[in-house]
Amino acid sequence: MALSTKSLPVVVIAGRPNVGKSTLFNRLAGRRYAIVNDQPGVTRDRKSVDIMLRGRNVSLVDTAGWEEDDPQTVFGRMRQSSESAVASADVVIFCVDARSGIHPVDQHLAQWLRKQGKVIILTVNKAEGHAGNVAAMEMYSLGLGEPYPVSAEHGDGVGDLIEAVLDALPNEEDEDFDAFEDDENDNIDRPLKLAIIGRPNAGKSTLVNQLLGEQRVITGPEAGLTRDSITVRLRDEEGEIELVDTAGLRRKARIDETLEKMSVSASLVALKMAEVVVLVIDAELGVHEQDLQIARLVEREGRCCILALNKWDILENRDEVRQQIKDRIEISLTQMSGIFTVSFSALTGRGVHKLLPTVRRAYAVWNKRVPTGALNRWFEEAITRHNPPMVEGRRLKIRYITQIKARPPTFVLFGTRTSKIPMDYQRYLVNGLRATFDMPGTPIRLQFRDSK
Ligand code: GDP
Ligand code: GDP
Repeated sequence: MALSTKSLPVVVIAGRPNVGKSTLFNRLAGRRYAIVNDQPGVTRDRKSVDIMLRGRNVSLVDTAGWEEDDPQTVFGRMRQSSESAVASADVVIFCVDARSGIHPVDQHLAQWLRKQGKVIILTVNKAEGHAGNVAAMEMYSLGLGEPYPVSAEHGDGVGDLIEAVLDALPNEEDEDFDAFEDDENDNIDRPLKLAIIGRPNAGKSTLVNQLLGEQRVITGPEAGLTRDSITVRLRDEEGEIELVDTAGLRRKARIDETLEKMSVSASLVALKMAEVVVLVIDAELGVHEQDLQIARLVEREGRCCILALNKWDILENRDEVRQQIKDRIEISLTQMSGIFTVSFSALTGRGVHKLLPTVRRAYAVWNKRVPTGALNRWFEEAITRHNPPMVEGRRLKIRYITQIKARPPTFVLFGTRTSKIPMDYQRYLVNGLRATFDMPGTPIRLQFRDSK
């Protein structure tokens, strides 16, 4: 593909030495991303390369190359060297280290970056394993917004980071949506990443223990930074499954009043590291507002979600409860209509064997790629049956649709004045896609582009 480099958006990776900037640079510029143009570093301290991130051409700049450890000199030199790079940046990936926690230099840099008027994406590297999640929470205190836990070395979380970078980039006029971009997560041999989340006392730890007892544990508990740091791998017929953040489940919050808050933020961190999320609900208590809140977080993060109704052993009116919960979910979580649901007793183990097969089914839906021909046929029919509405006296036009990615299924619609398409028409399209192509429960994303 022909490229002109002059107007590419610039993404700068900044951070103190040894946080893993070069590793992240290589990961982002790695073999799965077409390297379009290799440039010699602008200075000895800087590498720059033009890459394609999910169909978007960007210029990636690494600001590396200091050895000293003295905060004052390091900060001074770093700032000097980063200044021009940051000045030219559209987006700054500010990298910190989950293993070492917040370093004084991080604080200096964060303070300085906040004043530069750039979009900053706080990236917590080396976040593989549970220690990373804890560190990611701590990084909120840098005042740079939501931290993105990643492992530049292993690739965890990098997909989300890329999404965040793409979201932060200025709009591009002519994007090329012809082909699916290689998803860095598409590696089939990789274990499926599963998080078990939910309110305190829903039975998450009991469930994890039951799963561990029932399945063959093939690795773990892995040695981590603390004794809390545990990642466990299981195997089912289809391959390996990695339980993320299981350690968080064992570590009980000590202060009661923060318990509720903690469970939501801890869930948030766990689900960021996961592909599939099992939301455990205490069926005896029914669906609580906080359960819905967590489910909405999962939807917002675009994860695949499964509803696990636990404590089935103590229920008497099971059919009734199941129906009540299903109704509540359908009404409150229309974006996850048809969500996969399993009921079991984590305590006795009864029904738990249904969980992993359900996880696999939901995962397949989340990974769905709709064939172009079928998609176009559906689209023609859908917009004929219900024309896009009139807005301000003029009819909106949608010309065509294409799926740009899976995980979750994401579609782009091209037309004119697409920003005016009302929510109910978007819902009509999403519901149609969901029903026609059999995609229950998964988030479905629509994006709109005005074509000329
Ligand atoms: P830079 O100085 O910021 O460019 O850091 P480097 O990319 O050179 O990485 C510093 C060290 O951290 C190297 O030993 C890397 O192998 C290590 N490292 C980088 N990324 C990760 C990661 O995701 N996890 C872990 N555990 N180590 C990492
Ligand atoms: P967590 O806070 O979500 O990790 O919840 P726990 O796994 O610690 O469980 C909270 C309480 O619920 C404990 O007393 C468990 O024994 C109990 N519990 C968990 N699962 C079940 C279940 O399936 N049936 C019954 N009756 N009790 C359960």
